[in-house]
Amino acid sequence: MRFDVVTLFPELFAPFLTSGITRRAYESKQVDVQLTNPRDFAAGTYRRVDDRPFGGGPGMVMMAQPLAQSLSHIRSQRAEKAPVVLFSPIGRVLDHGLVQEFSSGTGAVLLCGRYEGLDQRFIDAHVDMQVSLGDFVLSGGEIAAMALLDAVARLQPGVLSDPESHHQDSFNPALDGLLDCPHYTRPESWDGVPVPAVLLSGHHVNIERWRREQRLALTLRHRPDLLALARAAGALSKRDERFLDGCS
Ligand code: SAH
Repeated sequence: MRFDVVTLFPELFAPFLTSGITRRAYESKQVDVQLTNPRDFAAGTYRRVDDRPFGGGPGMVMMAQPLAQSLSHIRSQRAEKAPVVLFSPIGRVLDHGLVQEFSSGTGAVLLCGRYEGLDQRFIDAHVDMQVSLGDFVLSGGEIAAMALLDAVARLQPGVLSDPESHHQDSFNPALDGLLDCPHYTRPESWDGVPVPAVLLSGHHVNIERWRREQRLALTLRHRPDLLALARAAGALSKRDERFLDGCS
């Protein structure tokens, strides 16, 4: 899959693409990330990419033409017509379902806004989907693009060293969509607090049961909406329901 990121700050992506568990996915081009800077397509000595808003008011607006030329350049390099995604507070909030859609696709063009945003005429003409990171305002779309790329890359086969790892992560509908259980590592006692004894017991059935109950209890406390979804999907057993009854 190939993601073309349109950004005025391509340098922000270098450390991101070369660090951590997802590095292999980017370096092997399993998740191919190409960066395009609209400034390279801007006219004039000053290579202007932004201008003052018509109608007045604070801030600057990204001009349509350098964005359109960035997009033409990307289209000339891609065989298939990739969806054009704009990061924006207007958009659908990024969640596991959307990440899964991207991770089973062939990629996209990711537009990172800056300043007050993009000239609306470019959005109307070229943007297929808008994606938000949540109800807050970032200075640019780059962090949102990295969040999407990171979440997509870790779902690709072979990226996590243990393939079971993302299966057990939070929000996985193929499992039950619940939150993950707490994790502990050495030492057995830290700051006077011991690890839950069951984890040291070597009794796998009990450990699995404990983890399941932790996931149920945590989800009930923090995200009861996910529990309702799991119930509707038939992912809760009678035993799970009895345990949850005992919690409330
Ligand atoms: N004037 C806009 C904010 C512009 S912030 C407004 O009030 O809605 C500049 C850029 O940051 C945006 O164009 C967008 O690409 C990005 N951005 C800001 N908040 C975001 C969010 N919650 N999710 C995704 N991208 C965001």
